[in-house]
Amino acid sequence: MAKTEKTKGQILSDELLSKKENIFEKQAEKTKAIFDYAEGYKTFLDGAKTEREAVVELIAMAKQNGFSEWNLGEPVKRGGAYYYNNRGKNLFLFRVGSEDIACDGVRIMAAHIDSPRLDLKQNPVYEDAGMCFFKTHYYGGIKKYQWTAIPLALHGVVVLENGEEVTVKVGEDDGDPVFYINDLLPHLAQEQVTKPLGTAIPGEKLNLLVGGLPFADENVSDKIKLNVLAILNEKYGIKEDDFISAEISAVPAFKARDVGFDRAFIGAYGHDDRVCAYPIATAIFGTDDRKHTTLVILADKEEVGSDGNTGMNSRILCDVIDAISRSLGADPIRVRANSMCLSADVTAAYDPNFPDVYEQKNSSMISCGTAMCKYTGARGKSSTNDASAEFVGKVRKIFKDNGVAFQTSELGKIDLGGGGTVAKFISYLNIDTVDVGVPVISMHAPYEVVSKADLYSTYEAFCAFCKA
Ligand code: MN
Ligand code: MN
Repeated sequence: MAKTEKTKGQILSDELLSKKENIFEKQAEKTKAIFDYAEGYKTFLDGAKTEREAVVELIAMAKQNGFSEWNLGEPVKRGGAYYYNNRGKNLFLFRVGSEDIACDGVRIMAAHIDSPRLDLKQNPVYEDAGMCFFKTHYYGGIKKYQWTAIPLALHGVVVLENGEEVTVKVGEDDGDPVFYINDLLPHLAQEQVTKPLGTAIPGEKLNLLVGGLPFADENVSDKIKLNVLAILNEKYGIKEDDFISAEISAVPAFKARDVGFDRAFIGAYGHDDRVCAYPIATAIFGTDDRKHTTLVILADKEEVGSDGNTGMNSRILCDVIDAISRSLGADPIRVRANSMCLSADVTAAYDPNFPDVYEQKNSSMISCGTAMCKYTGARGKSSTNDASAEFVGKVRKIFKDNGVAFQTSELGKIDLGGGGTVAKFISYLNIDTVDVGVPVISMHAPYEVVSKADLYSTYEAFCAFCKA
């Protein structure tokens, strides 16, 4: 028998058996496209470390791609491309298609643009033992010990007493100073290292080192604190009370970098969930489909439960769809019933360093493509959207018809934890929704890792969805 001929068993196993395949190996012809796409993503990441910065970056990209600003109540036109900026922290991008929106619905792609970080408290500044610190309150689920002893940058806004809003961004340029959370030296950590990881660094120890020069005046106390405030006042016009109306976050001062000799991976702060936000935005920017109405949602507040009026557990999504529908003379109830959504959020990639927490058959494997999670939640699927077999079947066919490599994913073993996404807030509006996103290594760490192949596969998945 010639070597090229397959046996009956081989043919049958090709046909019947499910397998996960490494995209770099099985779709090697895409390697250049995969690597090129990653360059744009890394640039985006470095400019968008907070939801506010992501909104600014994405609006600039939207304008370049012919999108114009729209507000609730304004008319929309068939063929138009619009963006809606909700309070500078939540962005909607949409194209109005030629099809009847009441029958065709809206193709929705949703990701979040907030990431775990350390927010400054409202009264953050104090001086102790020759050092000035800012007190922080962590935002989202973090392993606190990971945030000590690394360079941190400050990003955010301050609304001054007179109502003026100033932007703060320090620690990103090479010439900038950075900020730092002290940790205990191993020599004196004999007790600390015996504590569980979750309690060794309590939240109240996440204090940011911001200064050490005393103000030169014998007649004042807390000279270092005064000097820091004098610098802030000179640069931004800030007084201590202005922190009351500020949103300033400490984020890792790292840039996105390739990881590995072969550069297969990208290390960065905030892949969760900008690694999905970038693909859905570039998919809607680049699509040549003009039939369907497509909507991209870039949400805030996901890492703290999606509450608040810039999060997905808000009326705003419903209001936007209803406003578009009414402008086109369609019944919003029918529009939503006929819509479908890919909720684009990251999932946990199987990590061979920690095999005990994963059930390998149902975990997403790195570089094996975008990962579909039919359900998320915890324990007995608590708090999950759990997409229907019919909708999963539909999405699966879209991917198959367009050559998109994808895999399924569950977030680790049953009863070891769990997590949720914005999917349930969208399906609440009577919209078929399923989670699709990029597998991540070290999720929520100050420096997370993804595969360039999975990033690109996710982009391909959303391009296919836009025109399906
Ligand atoms: Mn996420
Ligand atoms: Mn997250």
